[in-house]
Amino acid sequence: MSRIEMVISDFGGVLTTPLVDAFTSVQDRVGIPPKTFGEALRALNEKEGTNPLFELECGRITEKAFQEQLADGLEPLLGHRPVIEDFGLLLFEALDPNVGMIDLMREVRRDGIRTSLLTNNVREWEAKWRSMMPIDELFETVVDSAFVGIRKPDPRIYQLTLERIDLEPEKCIFIDDMKINIDAANELGINGVHFRDTAQARAEVHALLGNQS
Ligand SMILES: [Mg+2]
Repeated sequence: MSRIEMVISDFGGVLTTPLVDAFTSVQDRVGIPPKTFGEALRALNEKEGTNPLFELECGRITEKAFQEQLADGLEPLLGHRPVIEDFGLLLFEALDPNVGMIDLMREVRRDGIRTSLLTNNVREWEAKWRSMMPIDELFETVVDSAFVGIRKPDPRIYQLTLERIDLEPEKCIFIDDMKINIDAANELGINGVHFRDTAQARAEVHALLGNQS
């Protein structure tokens, strides 16, 4: 077995508290259930042939354009046009750093393992998510979908990450809370760890690293 040299982590839902909780909190504030957002995005995808969220995460549309499209999609479902300008802000207010996983990054670095971040994100949100934790201290490389124009689970964003860190896939662990993103990583030979909770993810990463020491 190849020696693991790097841990690559997702951001939202791994290094932060669960996104589901944040969406539920946004629901309480704006009165729109998370599943209605999903329905609106699916309807727009069918109509336009592209999913506005994916376009936003690939940096092809601005947050402002996304908000307009989302309002278009929500309007027929809600029976009124919602104001969703503060959506990103509300989402971030409801997210907290996940200390157990941030500590894991520090622990593995102390043991000589390199660390990188691979995130599907939004250009306009960069200052907000970076302010939640010392990103540049925790990670030597950051690959952000909104700046590279590709999003997980597209294999090209994993390949780009591997090129940037200059490692073979089997020398890397990748942690993500979305199974689809883990499946894509495993397909390329990266050691995927599907985050379900902090204790489980920490144990799986330690087990993978422990096997080689
Ligand atoms: Mg995530």
